[in-house]
Amino acid sequence: MDFSALNKKQADSFAQQKRLLQQLSKGKTVVCPTCNKEIKLVLSEPGYARAQCQKGCTDVLLQLG
Ligand SMILES: [Zn+2]
Repeated sequence: MDFSALNKKQADSFAQQKRLLQQLSKGKTVVCPTCNKEIKLVLSEPGYARAQCQKGCTDVLLQLG
């Protein structure tokens, strides 16, 4: 197994999630790449933000700050 490729993929996905959160927090419309429904920012618990599409195929929990 190629761990360097795996780590790279995780880093990419983390950067992608961060970018998604930034766009949503600026009020931009972002659609889910899987179902093409709008992804909405949900504030779940203090210090965290959840980006979720209608169908739930995109469900990202991110720590703020
Ligand atoms: Zn979706």
